[in-house]
Amino acid sequence: MWSQRSVVDYGLAKRATVRSLRTGRCSHDDVCDAHPYLLRAARYHGEPTERLCPVCERRNVTNVTYVYGDELGRQVGRVKATSDLAEMAREYREFRVYVVEVCQGCGWNHLTVSFVLGNGDPPQET
Ligand SMILES: [Zn+2]
Repeated sequence: MWSQRSVVDYGLAKRATVRSLRTGRCSHDDVCDAHPYLLRAARYHGEPTERLCPVCERRNVTNVTYVYGDELGRQVGRVKATSDLAEMAREYREFRVYVVEVCQGCGWNHLTVSFVLGNGDPPQET
C-alpha cells in the first residue's frame, strides 16, 4: 500500500459552512451549487459513501477524486477511482489528490481531504 503525505483535512471548513447555512448566514443556493460537470462526474465516476448529506440529510454523498500534478500531463484534473491511485503512486513521483463530496440530491459539494501521493522522496522534516 502507498503512504499518503501532506494530508489536508477540510472537515473544519466543511462544518463551518454547514453551520453558517443552519444559522442563515449563507443560503442553500450558495452551498448547493455543484457544477453540472461535477454532478455528472459524481454520477458516472463517483464512489458512494456511507456519509449522509449534511444539508438535505436525505441522500449519502458521493466522493469524486481529482488528481493534479506537474508530471501528470493530460491526466491533470481528471477524475480517478480510488483503485487507480495505487498504480499512479507507483508511476509518478508526486501528485496531489483532491476528494470532493457531492450530494446528487441537493447539489451540496465540498472538498473533504487532499493529500500527496507518489514514489518520490517524502518531504524533509524541518
Ligand atoms: Zn443533499
